[in-house]
Amino acid sequence: MKYYSTNKKAPLATLHEAVVKGLAGDRGLYMPERIKPLPKEFYENIDKMTFREIACTVADAFFGEDVEAGELRRIVCDTLQFDCPVVRVTDNIYSLELFHGPTLAFKDVGARFMARLLQYFIRRDGSRKVHVLVATSGDTGSAVANGFLGVEGIHVHVLYPKGKVSRIQESQFTTLGRNITAIEVDGVFDDCQALVKSAFMDDELNSHMQLTSANSINVARFLPQAFYYFNAYARMKERGMADNLVVCVPSGNFGNITAALFGHRMGLPAKRFIAANNANDIFYNYLQTGIYEPKASRQTIANAMDVGDPSNFARICDLYGGSHSQITELISGATYTDEQITQAIAACHHDTGYTLDPHGACGYRALTEGLHEGEHGVFCETAHPAKFKETVESIIGTEVKIPARLAEFMKGEKQSVPMSNRFDDFKSYLMGI
Ligand SMILES: *Cc1c(COP(=O)(O)O)cnc(C)c1O
Repeated sequence: MKYYSTNKKAPLATLHEAVVKGLAGDRGLYMPERIKPLPKEFYENIDKMTFREIACTVADAFFGEDVEAGELRRIVCDTLQFDCPVVRVTDNIYSLELFHGPTLAFKDVGARFMARLLQYFIRRDGSRKVHVLVATSGDTGSAVANGFLGVEGIHVHVLYPKGKVSRIQESQFTTLGRNITAIEVDGVFDDCQALVKSAFMDDELNSHMQLTSANSINVARFLPQAFYYFNAYARMKERGMADNLVVCVPSGNFGNITAALFGHRMGLPAKRFIAANNANDIFYNYLQTGIYEPKASRQTIANAMDVGDPSNFARICDLYGGSHSQITELISGATYTDEQITQAIAACHHDTGYTLDPHGACGYRALTEGLHEGEHGVFCETAHPAKFKETVESIIGTEVKIPARLAEFMKGEKQSVPMSNRFDDFKSYLMGI
């Protein structure tokens, strides 16, 4: 399968090239040339299949032409060492819990899959060691570091702003050791991002070592997220509730919902989709007006969705040929202030006993307000509420228990490389490897 750029000015790429490059040469996002529909029998029998069986079928449609069958199964099974269960919250609202992975957020699925796919290509094609550079304000660094932990042939360098990430977050990428190095930058997140960008543009560095990014726009990170939407459909079908299914995705960069839309294109029988935003309402406004107007991001309590110019909008446009009417026919939007998110967490906890995190709360609220008669809704609970412990506890007034695997990170010893925010320093560090 070949991959084209949404800007249509870069040459076609193989899967291997698309995974290593991340972004196409014309700064567009890679899209697979074909999206293969899955057969009717698959959807008829899906409720009798396990999550891994479903994921293997979906993975074969995406990657089967480029990855040997047995290897692909191994990559999928190794990625999905945890479940993505569908849990009842109310009679017609269900939570697709995506926080059962090592860093308690949905990005674990894509990061783990990408690491294993990259390792497969390195082994098969005998490429030299790959160095992944990732700048993080918290969550991406932990998912990528843990996804790549112990994967041979790859070293990950996580750049994070000193003193600006929570202790829980910091512990998830500074205590790992092995093939993960945490670089503590004396600066802010934008400095970290600038260092990574300069590194990718530096010819001397790029001939010294093979550099790549593990950005969320990478095809190997976003496509595997489709797996759990098929599983959600299967688990709702098991309950006899798969008709008139509405899938609601708390969205920031729109990678997660784009994976769901790929599923729909493959025949997944969801009736419609809702993109739930926090106060960053760019996509919501686009749905209302047809005009896409990026803005500076606004800080909210659902901070992983503080995005003012969602990258994957380009993919959504491409999927529907830029047609606003096609997009609004299938997708509706919602946007919530911090106060509304807070109310949703409190109301849900009070009415149902279910504890939401601030991101999932946008999804839950959009379903409570947006479901029509006869519809059933599934929203993504994209992170465990314990990742936002102080915020959630102050809203519900009771303790949120930290899961054992999160507590385990916090016991580890912090190891980091101190770094100034000057590129010269970062470059000499990399040249010394
Ligand atoms: C990254 C993230 C999101 C946003 O997902 P996108 O794919 O960027 O839309 C939502 N919730 C949490 C907890 C996240 O970490």
